[in-house]
Amino acid sequence: MPSKYYPISLDLDKCIGCTNCIKRCPTQAIRVKNDKAKVINDKCINCGLCISVCPYHAFQSVVKGYKGVSRYPYKIAIVDPAIYGQFNAEIMPEQILAAIRATNCTETYEVSRGADLITAFPN
Ligand code: SF4
Ligand code: SF4
Repeated sequence: MPSKYYPISLDLDKCIGCTNCIKRCPTQAIRVKNDKAKVINDKCINCGLCISVCPYHAFQSVVKGYKGVSRYPYKIAIVDPAIYGQFNAEIMPEQILAAIRATNCTETYEVSRGADLITAFPN
């Protein structure tokens, strides 16, 4: 998925070519040549997994802090259900989601929707 708002940078000075990121990238968007990683932008879906699996912190998010997302056209909050337990029982989940959307989010999706989809379409 080509994106002019590519949110991940790769610092080749930190990369030692360990191939950890290749093994975990869900779209096979990473290659390593001459001990340096390279991202094939057309295959990258910007999931950010490479950021968390690189032991040398060669991948970095270019978005720093919540304000950094304002430059992106789509701001989607993936909401963990654990957040609902942080409020008292009078505050309904939809109120919490509405409050999150009011912070300049384009949309909210609950993490549990992914589980629903997997259950509905197991193969
Ligand atoms: S995991 Fe990090 S150090 Fe290893 S190849 Fe990928 S970018 Fe380079
Ligand atoms: S952001 Fe996701 S799809 Fe893109 S290179 Fe990293 S792991 Fe692969």
